[in-house]
Amino acid sequence: MDPVNASIQVLGGAHTVTGSKHLLTLNGLRVLLDCGLFQGIKSLRLKNREPLPVDPKTIDFLLLSHAHLDHCGYIPLLVKEGFKGRIIMTPPTRDLATLILKDCAKIQEEDAANANRHGYSKHSPALPLYTAQDVDKALPMLETVKDEEWMSLNDKVSFRFVQNGHILGSCFIDIKNDSQRIVFSGDIGRSVSDLMKPPKILLEADILIMESTYGDRLHEAMPSSDELAKVVNDTIHQHGVLLIPSFAVGRAQELMLLINELKAALQIPNVPVYLDSPMAADASFILRRYPSWHKLPDASCDSVFKDIHIVREFSETRKVIESKGSKIVIAASGMLSGGRVLEYLKALAGYRENTILLTGYQAAGTRGRALKEGAKEVKMHGRYIPVKASVREIASLSAHADQGEMLTWLKAFEKPPKTILLVHGEAHGLEAFRVKIIDELKCKVLIPEQNQVLELK
Ligand SMILES: [Zn+2]
Repeated sequence: MDPVNASIQVLGGAHTVTGSKHLLTLNGLRVLLDCGLFQGIKSLRLKNREPLPVDPKTIDFLLLSHAHLDHCGYIPLLVKEGFKGRIIMTPPTRDLATLILKDCAKIQEEDAANANRHGYSKHSPALPLYTAQDVDKALPMLETVKDEEWMSLNDKVSFRFVQNGHILGSCFIDIKNDSQRIVFSGDIGRSVSDLMKPPKILLEADILIMESTYGDRLHEAMPSSDELAKVVNDTIHQHGVLLIPSFAVGRAQELMLLINELKAALQIPNVPVYLDSPMAADASFILRRYPSWHKLPDASCDSVFKDIHIVREFSETRKVIESKGSKIVIAASGMLSGGRVLEYLKALAGYRENTILLTGYQAAGTRGRALKEGAKEVKMHGRYIPVKASVREIASLSAHADQGEMLTWLKAFEKPPKTILLVHGEAHGLEAFRVKIIDELKCKVLIPEQNQVLELK
């Protein structure tokens, strides 16, 4: 291998948990690992509208670790900007990414239309980042390969996907040529989950590009179901509504499973549960289609939706909001950055009896982060909404491994990677994890800057 031509450039996901994009140059190939949207702080979101520092026409392959928007949401723009290469992912990731990209375009078009109608955008006219038509042009390019199957990218470089337990279809990306092994972790799942299998063990890597979302945190040891029962019961005791912002596919199913189990065990009362997501019913179908990717038997996939009211139309959202009595509402998006959950937040946040339960990582600059940090008001659609509802968090319901779980996974390598590049983390997580890895594994750890080119030697 010519070392001069081997490099990694982090185009997104440096010092942040969003915008994941890593350009690997190897044996004359340019391979993009993930193609995510920036979310959260405005200065980050604006990066979605800047051209990439690399001409998309020169990229040969895009390998996608999983279907979360911060990993796949930029694909329609990459294609619009001239990318002509191949886009490869696992079959469940393609099914989920198809749903998620269509939904993302719809939300952006609706948001732009609303902003123009009500005049709350500073841009005139407000434009969506991309449209449903842009998504339709990109979708036929999505190709699949089974996990564990090695695929050649040219005569020197090949790769395989290996399940990493984060969400349905999510994988490590394991790349090799004749002299080096490069692993991209994607987002790493938890070692214990009711829905997902644990991340698989890898044995070898020279270079490891690794996420650090919870690099400074250990999740609670208390079972998630006990914590959830407590939050549900506290809210019902106050005659309030429990709002759970959640990613619509995956986390939502795990929550519904837990709620149904708690009801069956009489640990919580039989209050109505609403899942407000046009994508939700399709998600159950996708779970059933891929039994080898999760722990649920077919019967449980069906029972996930038992007694759950699925809200598809916006007109129904109004009815749920106006209905009297305690209830549980699960709605996307999980960081309250957009989607139907905002309608509920607007209606529910101002009342002390209600609870907003955060179950996933809340990126800096999102409404979810503001709530987690005790904000007394949040800005939405151009106006401020007071927050009087109680805000709780169950981090153990997160789909991300904590520091301990990530270290355990790292220690299973036959020998530690020569170099670890820490990405997909915010300042505290990155720094705490860097120190911990150096202490415990004695390997070289780098925290790349946005657009910095790191030569691989
Ligand atoms: Zn993810």
